[in-house]
Amino acid sequence: MLIVGLTGGIGSGKSLVARYFADLGAHVIDADQLSREVVERGSAGFDEVVSAFGDAILRNGDLDRRALSNLIFANKDAKRKLEEIIHPRVRRAFEEAVNNLEPDGILIYEIPLLVEAGAAERFDFVITVESDIVARRERLQKRGMIPSEIESRFQAQATAEAREVVADYVILNNSTEDALLREVENLWEVILPNWQREKS
Ligand code: ATP
Repeated sequence: MLIVGLTGGIGSGKSLVARYFADLGAHVIDADQLSREVVERGSAGFDEVVSAFGDAILRNGDLDRRALSNLIFANKDAKRKLEEIIHPRVRRAFEEAVNNLEPDGILIYEIPLLVEAGAAERFDFVITVESDIVARRERLQKRGMIPSEIESRFQAQATAEAREVVADYVILNNSTEDALLREVENLWEVILPNWQREKS
């Protein structure tokens, strides 16, 4: 199985690219979803997060993701502590999910923080989705984020240049959804199969 890491800046269009790949028949796993699952109420991860940060990060008995993200945004030690709980669990969950898949085909792993986690080496092929900052701001505003929130997320993320350095392929998502779909189809039909042939 070819394991592809899919990354990109916030609001760049990663999830849409992942959906197009899924529609074409790829296996798709989302790191954000895994990171939510490993701290679901009742899990060992949940217990560890609560004992590390206390009840203030709970809301109706579940983790209050907003409170948690505000906390780690403002406090580097808290961020490290949370990552120490979540990252190994996500990694194990990913490995388990891979083991449960048919061993052939192409797996797309959507991992927004690929560069920040130093994870590029774990993949056979890395794709980054990049997009004009103006378009990204607009998309994020449409999703209900306020400008100051958007700017601080941009600041906190790795730069487009850092993602492009580790990527085998850069998708520039500055046009229509249709144009984006055509890029994904080209990757699916031509670029990834060629890469897979060369690898085997
Ligand atoms: P995040 O990192 O925040 O999860 P993302 O990189 O996964 O963001 P998406 O959720 O795929 O980004 O895209 C953000 C929004 O922009 C979505 O509503 C998506 O449908 C829309 N979008 C993405 N690309 C285009 C495009 N080329 N034309 C129009 N809308 C687009």
